[in-house]
Amino acid sequence: MEVTVDLSLMVFAIIMGLGLCCLFVHYALQSGSALAWLAATMVDVGIETLVIRFAAETAVGMIALSLLVPFAYFFATHAVRQAMSLNETGRRVKAIFGALISLSLLLIAIRAPLFLQCIPFQLAAIVIFFDTIKSVWLMRSRDLLGTALLFLCSGSLLGLVIRVPMFPLVLGQPTPFPIMEPLTFEQVFMHCLSFFTSGLALIVVAKIVGDLLSGYRQSAERDPLTGLLNRRVFDEILDRPATSPGAVIMADIDHFKSVNDVYGHAVGDEVIQAFACILSHFADYVGRMGGEEFALILHDVDIDAAAEQAEVIRTGFHHYRSPSIGDHVAMSASFGVAAFEPGQPVRFALDQADKALYAAKSAGRNRLEIADATDTVGTSISKAA
Ligand code: GH3
Ligand code: MG
Ligand code: MG
Repeated sequence: MEVTVDLSLMVFAIIMGLGLCCLFVHYALQSGSALAWLAATMVDVGIETLVIRFAAETAVGMIALSLLVPFAYFFATHAVRQAMSLNETGRRVKAIFGALISLSLLLIAIRAPLFLQCIPFQLAAIVIFFDTIKSVWLMRSRDLLGTALLFLCSGSLLGLVIRVPMFPLVLGQPTPFPIMEPLTFEQVFMHCLSFFTSGLALIVVAKIVGDLLSGYRQSAERDPLTGLLNRRVFDEILDRPATSPGAVIMADIDHFKSVNDVYGHAVGDEVIQAFACILSHFADYVGRMGGEEFALILHDVDIDAAAEQAEVIRTGFHHYRSPSIGDHVAMSASFGVAAFEPGQPVRFALDQADKALYAAKSAGRNRLEIADATDTVGTSISKAA
């Protein structure tokens, strides 16, 4: 028994399946709407395949195509823009897009030659796609996937432009401007175009999933208020033996409770964020240990250089003025500094720095203390601010 499979129906089934996958992943990940736009693109292209196969020669088929072809690119540009966190397509481009589609519909209504009917709606697709590619091109920072996306979009656009005079062939009609052999068009060109387009869809999915995972990683490793490393991740780093000499600085905002009591918790949060922002410029690893207490790990510095850094932070924060509190209030923080050697767990230096911090608090605050290098029980020598 011979079983024949209609190629168009198979393509339709595959594209619709991909569209459904995108939609399921979209709902499962609750990941914004880029995947939903991609699903809409797939459904559009799937229906387009059926129309080309079964209704290309009818007026209704032509009307459907003059909408389906440009809207496939309209949906695709939405997916690309969402995946790349770009603004929506501008109103002017949307207006040109709408006008070109209307022109195609008009040409279909007055029964203009098929070749002419097909040109405006293809130009609509080109205009909207080009506008998005330009936006991706102008992005200040693009990662590898962004660059791959740009490459594939540009390839698809080129294919789209070359297809304009050849489009009647897709509908089984002759074209007055055959810029390449019909056989080459069908067997090579259309395959290249579908390669670029499916690659594009894959990259969009990869970009969406990649961004989502890095977002989860960020929220698993970072403190939400300050963006610094959270306690769990910082603890893991502390348990690793040091590979080079360095130092730990412990820092704690002075009399912070009264900031909360007098100005409110929201202002307290702002002060914590400002302090964290200053700290983040000074070390390889900066963690929020809890409340208004932070730790910094500095590599390849000796204790004096680390103490100098802590002093710069101390004066920097003392000169900082919170916009919500006003210029008349100077805040301060206290610091404990301790060194570590290669092979030692960094946690040992942290414990010493913590004791030095306690000594700084006891000695009057707004100052730093250096842990005694020879001291294994944690007394500290004072370095007055
Ligand atoms: P000291 O000079 O001895 O460090 O005194 P302090 O008031 O800074 O320290 P204390 O430990 O008594 O108070 C810390 C306060 O920090 C108490 C707590 O309510 C507040 N706090 C902890 N986490 C947060 C936070 O995320 N936001 C705000 N606004 N306050 C916080
Ligand atoms: Mg404090
Ligand atoms: Mg504290």
